[in-house]
Amino acid sequence: MPSPSRRKTAAAPPDRDSATDRIAGALTQAIIERRLMPGTRLAEQKLADLFQVSRTLVRQALNQLSRDRLVTLTPARGACVAEPSVEEARQVFEVRRMLEAQLARELAARITPAQVRQLRSHLKEERAAVKRQDISGRTRLLADFHVLLARLLGNEVLAELLQELLSRSSLIALMYQSGHSAAESQAEHEALVDALEAGDAARAERLMLGHLGHVEAHLRLQQPSSDLRTALQL
Ligand SMILES: [Zn+2]
Repeated sequence: MPSPSRRKTAAAPPDRDSATDRIAGALTQAIIERRLMPGTRLAEQKLADLFQVSRTLVRQALNQLSRDRLVTLTPARGACVAEPSVEEARQVFEVRRMLEAQLARELAARITPAQVRQLRSHLKEERAAVKRQDISGRTRLLADFHVLLARLLGNEVLAELLQELLSRSSLIALMYQSGHSAAESQAEHEALVDALEAGDAARAERLMLGHLGHVEAHLRLQQPSSDLRTALQL
């Protein structure tokens, strides 16, 4: 299945050259980098004009994003950037903990010095983006770190799954105003790479679970209340 994750990033494989992928990729990037907010309407005709393609291609791209849960399609409103529910957010993080704890363990057991160097150079880019307060760049790099770990393990299926989960996580962080600072996440990535380099599987797993736990704990996972009394805390 073609996926918007085919866009060019530090962790991504070579691009697949199709207009649908290009549109889906550009929209995914805009969502992840917080340039498109949850609930934003994505008008087919407007997108067709902007990308200078047919509405059919735009519709295909939107369908693809809807399968990735980044876009919601409704007959009444058309396509909108998805607004993940609290329950969905919890489930996404639950799945990430399951997958990434094991990923950290396995990678610690078999990481090579060349792979450690690759991770170190990614961390350097993260640090630079955090330092210069490049919000788009740091958001993308902090997400790519997790996908890169899966790629280093040599498991493309896991990398694609994580790419999708990381895109959804970015949207969730945007929706529920993550208070976990980019600097904290970045520092946690550094500690994790130290554990991987030391080949310490138990520590790598513990640090990964701690990191994901912190990110989730800092989300304000409360569904806005439609009940006036509750909303006003009376
Ligand atoms: Zn992270």
